[in-house]
Amino acid sequence: MEEYSDEEFIVSECIKCKIINWPALKFCKNCLNPNTLRKGNSIGRIIEFSKNEQGYFGIVEFEGQIRIICNLNQINNPKINQEVILKKIKKNNLNHSFQISS
Ligand SMILES: [Zn+2]
Repeated sequence: MEEYSDEEFIVSECIKCKIINWPALKFCKNCLNPNTLRKGNSIGRIIEFSKNEQGYFGIVEFEGQIRIICNLNQINNPKINQEVILKKIKKNNLNHSFQISS
């Protein structure tokens, strides 16, 4: 039995060039200045999606910069560019699971 815990959507933003680094990093991978941590904006849009035996999954873009593979099972009929909300991040030792709703 796998133990999952809930996790917050935290991103790191560079104090200088404002690029968002995700997963969160201490220093910007673009200009090496320090990052600040903040809550990510949970509204995203679907870039692409597919279906397997577990249901819909796909790539969702957040803040126009971060692309995350998400579980789209709670979306009835996903469409490219559809606006969606990151509802929950579940984490165990190996994996993050990103649950999306419309
Ligand atoms: Zn930077």
